Parts: sequence; C-alpha cells; structure tokens
Amino acid sequence: MMDLEIPDKTHDESRQGEALVLEPAAGKNNGRKLYIESYGCAMNFSDSEIVASILAEQGFETTADHNLADVIFINTCSIRENAEQRVRNRLKEFTVAKVRNPGLVVGVLGCMAERLKSKFLEEEKLVDVVVGPDAYRNLPELIDQVDSGQKAVNVLLSREETYADISPVRLNSNGINAFVSIMRGCDNMCSFCVVPFTRGRERSRDPKSIVAECTDLFNKGYREVTLLGQNVDSYKWKQPHPTLSKGEGSDEPEAKEVLSFGEDLGEATTNFANLLELVALINPDLRVRFSTSHPKDITDDVLYTINRYENICNYIHLPVQSGNSRILDMMNRTYDREWYINRIDAIRRIIPDCAISTDVITGFCTETDEEHHDTVTMMDYVKYDFAYMFKYSERPGTLAAKRYADDIPEEVKQKRLAQIVAKQQEYSFYRMQARIGKVEKVLIEGYSKKSDKDYCGRSDQNAMVIFPVGDNYKPGEYVNVLIERSTSATLIGVVVD
Ligand code: SAM
Ligand code: SF4
Repeated sequence: MMDLEIPDKTHDESRQGEALVLEPAAGKNNGRKLYIESYGCAMNFSDSEIVASILAEQGFETTADHNLADVIFINTCSIRENAEQRVRNRLKEFTVAKVRNPGLVVGVLGCMAERLKSKFLEEEKLVDVVVGPDAYRNLPELIDQVDSGQKAVNVLLSREETYADISPVRLNSNGINAFVSIMRGCDNMCSFCVVPFTRGRERSRDPKSIVAECTDLFNKGYREVTLLGQNVDSYKWKQPHPTLSKGEGSDEPEAKEVLSFGEDLGEATTNFANLLELVALINPDLRVRFSTSHPKDITDDVLYTINRYENICNYIHLPVQSGNSRILDMMNRTYDREWYINRIDAIRRIIPDCAISTDVITGFCTETDEEHHDTVTMMDYVKYDFAYMFKYSERPGTLAAKRYADDIPEEVKQKRLAQIVAKQQEYSFYRMQARIGKVEKVLIEGYSKKSDKDYCGRSDQNAMVIFPVGDNYKPGEYVNVLIERSTSATLIGVVVD
C-alpha cells in the first residue's frame, strides 16, 4: 500500500497493530490477561474497545505485552490483500508465545475472521478462536470452549447488532478525541469491496444511545467526537425521533444537566443531518467530525447543517474512487463524474472554506490510460486537501472478482498510483500554503511527535497544526494559532491569544 502520509483519522497508519490497555476489573477470570491489537480502519479500533469492555466485565485485565497474555486477540482487516498478509505475518510472531504457554488462547476477530471463517483454523494452526464482527457478545463462551480443549468459531452476522448498550472503554486514549460508531455494515455492494460480506447488512444505532455516549464523553473532558459509519449519509433511525431540548442554564459545563430528550415525533425518521444536529447541540465546545460520506447520498440538508453549527467541523471525506464514469459504473458506485462534481460544487457553495479529502483506486479492471487521466483531472478540479490512494487489489468473493478480470499489469497500476500520489502532494502543499497568514482555531491534542517543546492539534479543517508549548493553555483546550509556514502535511505557527 502506498498511502500518502496524511492526517485522516479513519485509517491511521501509525496506529496499525496498536495494543490496548485498560484498568483491571474483578470477575471469574480475575488475573487473566488479554492482549488485543487492531488493524485497518477506525471502526476496527472502535470495535476493539467494545471487545475489551465485554471481557473486562468478565474480569479480564489488559496488557500491552503479548508475552504476559493469557489471551491474544488480533482484530483484522480484509480490505486489500496486503492487509491480510500483514496479519498472517503477525500471527507467526505469536508461535513462540504459544510454545512457551500451551494454555494461551489465540483469537482472530473482525473482517478476516468473517471472510475466512473456520478455514482460518485449518490455515493457521496457531489460532484457537475465530470471531466475526457481530459476535463479540459471545466471546466469553467462546473462550470457555477453548479452555475446555476445543476450537471455537462464531461468524454469524446480525441485522440488529449495534452494541448500542455497551459503553466502550476508551483505550490508549488522549482523553480528547473519541470515535463513536453510529452504524454498522454496508448495503452498497461496490464491486471491488469486501466490506458488505465481512460486516453484513447496514444498520443504524439508536440516536439516544449515540447522544448519551457523546454527552458522557464531553462530561469526562473529551472535546472531539468522530461519528463512524461506512456510509454515514444513509444513517436512518425509524421512530421515535428524539428532539433535544436545551434547558435553562445552558452555559453550565455539565452537558447532561442541560440536555434532555423531548417528545417523540411519531413516524418521523432521524436522518444523518438530524443526528449531526443532535450531537452538535450537546455543547458548542464539543467538536463533531464524521466519516465516511458517500457521494450518492450526501444531501444539501447535511451540508446546511454543517454550515449552521460552528462546532461541526468543515471537513468532508468524500471518496471518489475514480474520475471516469464508465469505471464508476463498473465499480457499482451508483454515481457518475457529473454527479460527483455536482456534490463538490454544492459543498463549495454551502460551506465556505470546507476541506475535502478522498479515496482513489488506480488500475481497476479494464481502466485505460485515458480513463485514468479522468481521475487526474478530477484531482485538478477538486484540489483535494488529502487523499488515500490505493492500487486495485482483487478480493475473493466480490462482484468485481466474479465479473471482471484483474487485467491491469502491476507495473501500470504502480505507475498510475505514483502519478496521482505526486499530484496529491502538490495539492496538499497548495492547500496548506493557502492557510499561511490565517488564524486557525486548534484543539490541542498533546505534545508534537518530534518535540516536547511543541504542542500539536487539529484545525477545524482537520489539518495538523504545530505550535510552541505555553503556560496559558494545555491539551483539551482551544487556541487560536497564526499560521507562519507549512509542509504538505503540517501547519506551523504561534498562539495569538
Ligand atoms: N465506505 C467507504 C466508502 O464508500 O468510501 C470506504 C470503505 S473502505 C474501508 C476504504 C477504502 O478502501 C475505499 O474507499 C477504497 O478506496 C479502498 N478499497 C476498498 N476495496 C479495495 C480494493 N479491493 N482494492 C483497493 N482499494 C480498496
Ligand atoms: Fe465498501 Fe462501497 Fe460500502 Fe464503502 S460504500 S464500505 S466502498 S461497499
């Protein structure tokens, strides 16, 4: 994978394989240690917090050292071939631990588990338990089954499971930003994509439980939530539709004291614009982000809602995949080039100063040089702030794998990828340079990676901003930063208030 190094938080390269740690809890497994590491998108990292929460209830402690673990879980990604290879390589590294401790339970969770099912047990002898993304509530029983000497598999997908009632433990968190899942699965069937097969049908989570989780996060000091779904614009909760009323004393810092759900609105449906508004109303100091938007579903209503609330960030991740209508049709994206451009124009018209990022696939089946060039001209048109760019990777079982030959030679895919990566670097730099001389409102996240003399945080448009540490501000607070210079991925400046 040749991703541009960009600050898109839905797939954070620096977090791949990260292990999670939480406080010990009592229970029948008291003293047993769980090691869990995650790969892939933010949804997987969020799911690992749900898994840790379920097992904490059973008395498991977490450890960041797999050598100390009684249970090792890997939460896996299937999106491209190399994501799966990475997991297989990682599993090999646990062989020594298993030899040393034959009672060790090794489990594979998530998309790869769902895709390979019990075949995983045959292919990787080390693995004891295989659990799909909708079966995490069953984990305690599955571990019991392994303890009794059997292998265990649960890859049942559900039409209802949203884990809405499970309050995820926040692991390895900076206490400032949190991911909140608002829906699971996907009904779109893009022809290249394995997600509908590994994560099942789309289902939305009760808005009351989402608002409750975000309110709780705010009251614990968190200042930014990112609402997660494969296609947030198709979020839909059929009645009752809650209204959120602000009581007297709405300046009070405790959000829960001033927010209450009002009357149900009968038959009405809560759509994504309504949900954004509900979350934005929790407190003006709580920033709201979301990912991922789908070009076919993003409505003007959503755009007007973003523009209406200062705390809904002016940043939209709108994956284009290809700039050519024939390829988009083969990808089953259900929009064409003109439609996508119309949505970009609507964003520019309704939300002044909105950053836009994207995902691009190069070398999809039958893509000609001219069709690839349409993707390049789309990049010229939008001048994306960031982009994730991938070579097409055929995934077994997908519509594209069944219908089309993966016929673009590897070196052509690579050449096209290199071309758009270079192009994107130009536009990222261009967007960053345009911020020089401007004052950005930044939520401080902590020390910069390179120096403890600098803080880092994100602007409203999701750009990473670096500025000197000072006595009058600290992580979790907002500061205004005058931007003095930039790289293609970072803004550098000084605090001006
Ligand atoms: N739901 C999101 C959407 O519709 O844009 C994205 C989900 S997917 C986890 C993230 C990105 O991976 C996609 O936008 C696409 O660019 C890329 N991707 C998915 N399947 C792929 C494949 N078979 N080969 C290469 N890239 C792929
Ligand atoms: Fe995959 Fe398309 Fe669903 Fe995104 S919208 S998860 S690319 S099927």
